[in-house]
Amino acid sequence: MVPLTEHDIRASFVNCTKGETKRLALPRDLTERPWADLDFLGWQDPAAPQRAYLVVESDQGPVGVALRLAAPSAGRARRSMCSLCLTNHSGDGVSLMTARKAGPAGQQGNSVGVYICTDLACSLYLRGRKQTGLGGRLHESITLAEKIDRTRTNLAGFLDKVVTG
Ligand SMILES: [Zn+2]
Repeated sequence: MVPLTEHDIRASFVNCTKGETKRLALPRDLTERPWADLDFLGWQDPAAPQRAYLVVESDQGPVGVALRLAAPSAGRARRSMCSLCLTNHSGDGVSLMTARKAGPAGQQGNSVGVYICTDLACSLYLRGRKQTGLGGRLHESITLAEKIDRTRTNLAGFLDKVVTG
């Protein structure tokens, strides 16, 4: 994706109030992110790890979504798959994250949940730049381009649910 500036990012959020957008913690390593290999920018708030954010490019410009990590429940299966990039993780490598819906639906308390790599590094797992230590991804006969395409489609489906009431 095209590198984003702090201003681009703060202006992109669809499910935050203006105050929240102003206060949210941006990644400290923005200029060092491997932008060329990212399908979306994702990060956890270093001061509040239950908060996470992702920003995706769209025809209308960048779209940002604020997420909350559900507390990991005891006794949960210790192995799970990211619903965006389909990478398998053990332990807390995948988290259920919820996004408040945009607009009036969100104000009424509606949210959308998604299981996603806790470190939001889906793009890097897909490209083999990051490993899970589990033997990771299922072997698939489709190409990297097809996997990337699928991940973007999954992500677009999630964003659709956030922005439509
Ligand atoms: Zn993932």
